[in-house]
Amino acid sequence: MRTRIDVDLEKGTILRTDLPGNAIWLGGRGLAESILLQEVPPACHPLGSRNVLVFAPGLFAGTSMPTASRMSVAGKSPLTGGIKESNVGGMAGMILSQLGIGAVVIKGMSPVGHPKLLLVGKRSSELIEVPELHRLGNYQTVEILKKRFGNEAVILSIGPCGEMKMSAATIAVTDTNGRPCRHAGRGGLGGVMGSKGLKAIVIDPEGAQVRRGTDPAAFAKAVKEYTKILQSSKKTAFWRENGTAGLVEVSHARGSLPTRNFTSGAYDKKDGVNAERLKTLTAQRKGIMGHACMRGCVVRCSNIFNDPQGRYLTSGLEYETITMMGPNLDIDDLDTIAQIDFRCDDYGIDTIETGATIGILSETDLFRFGDRERAIQLIDEIGKGTVLGRVLGQGVTTTGKVFGITRIPAVKGQSLAAHEPRSLKGLGVTYATSPQGADHTAGFVAEEPLLREGHTERSRNAQINVVIADSLGLCQFTGLRDDYDLFVRLIGALTGKAPSAEEVVQLGRKALWEERKFNQGAGVGPGQDRLPEFMRSEALPPNNNAFDVEDEDLDRVFGDYPK
Ligand code: SF4
Repeated sequence: MRTRIDVDLEKGTILRTDLPGNAIWLGGRGLAESILLQEVPPACHPLGSRNVLVFAPGLFAGTSMPTASRMSVAGKSPLTGGIKESNVGGMAGMILSQLGIGAVVIKGMSPVGHPKLLLVGKRSSELIEVPELHRLGNYQTVEILKKRFGNEAVILSIGPCGEMKMSAATIAVTDTNGRPCRHAGRGGLGGVMGSKGLKAIVIDPEGAQVRRGTDPAAFAKAVKEYTKILQSSKKTAFWRENGTAGLVEVSHARGSLPTRNFTSGAYDKKDGVNAERLKTLTAQRKGIMGHACMRGCVVRCSNIFNDPQGRYLTSGLEYETITMMGPNLDIDDLDTIAQIDFRCDDYGIDTIETGATIGILSETDLFRFGDRERAIQLIDEIGKGTVLGRVLGQGVTTTGKVFGITRIPAVKGQSLAAHEPRSLKGLGVTYATSPQGADHTAGFVAEEPLLREGHTERSRNAQINVVIADSLGLCQFTGLRDDYDLFVRLIGALTGKAPSAEEVVQLGRKALWEERKFNQGAGVGPGQDRLPEFMRSEALPPNNNAFDVEDEDLDRVFGDYPK
């Protein structure tokens, strides 16, 4: 039986209960959102006391299954105004699960005063005041907490952006090296944590045990099968060799690489930011490619990037950050992007949202394409909370309103990620219709990228598959999204009760439709299932294609399809 921990910051209480029996197959996104749907009034203020923040490891987290210990963080988003699940790697999902904890639910708001820390152990938890951590960056916070609680402690924390309740603030999670460089990045959930007055969660790993399932032999056998598939996959080899930076060339060739504030899909200076450049610099500076963000990951898409003197600069330098802070700002220099990435991780702000935000400032005199120093200065303004920084930290949609900019690359208030939907129309359908706002991880569709027809079904299936993967704790880089027979066996051997493949799909489908229902209650209705207007009116070089999927095809993604 897994444990649920309820922490009420207002009352200062902590309650441990067993997760109900009907949650046997639920983990990650499915579990976190089922709690939100029951306990959060959709119309509540996302930064108010009635919102809750849920941390739920995926169902397979903490087992011997590789690349399957991701964690869902969920709450009502201050960025989109709707439901938000932000999926994160690092060590937290694995260790929480190995301590027998299925969900940590943060409620209420701490009375004005010092920030709090939640210490979670196998059998007990406590709230501790930590005035010394006020407005510290994630790196310093983790350093102090490791001195106090030991090097093995796994830490979740917010930086100053979360404490300032910014809508693009993130929650950092420590990785295999104990660094706060994995982030629940999207949707501003760091701002929700800040609104509750919670600076950090420290997980004491003492007593953590690998979960072997109710039928350990059958589970181990199925894990072996799964691992073999994963290890022999060409995609695994690609991610391990190139990191996600390998996508720079793929996107450039496809014409879907956001460049100079979404005005082109190809970047003439991409050689300065592609995987070859990353690998060369990493080798010269004794960094690491093929790094694992969580223990036991066999894909290992992450990296450690050092500065020219060979000192640690950031980890992992990923495609989304490289593109949104690189080509999108016309910065063709990985050192600058790495400095930006470190700052964003330290301040606790989403690199995707912030890259899009600085990109639209190119319409003002606040930023010129290619100005590296200015890009870094603007990130520092956000971290320090200057007036300009506080505006930018609210994300691209609010920044657009403040500066009278109407060409905003966002859906439902959240910026598009580093994939241009005019050259990836199936993903454009997901961006438009996902209850999560524009999110590349909500259901990536790469087939027939320039065709206007045929994406309704693809996007719907991809979105359902992603909900299942997020609920099971699978990293999306496994690429194993729909081998349901294997997953059914794994779930059965783990929990003692095997669902049918149809039941697994039904769980994913139900969760997705429930998200839509929540959003409607929050005022985020189907009318917002649209891409920004400029994407229909501006053809994107080099394919010279606008987004032309019919509105009725977008509406059919959820429309009359059985729930
Ligand atoms: S594939 Fe990459 S993101 Fe996924 S768990 Fe492994 S290192 Fe982390």
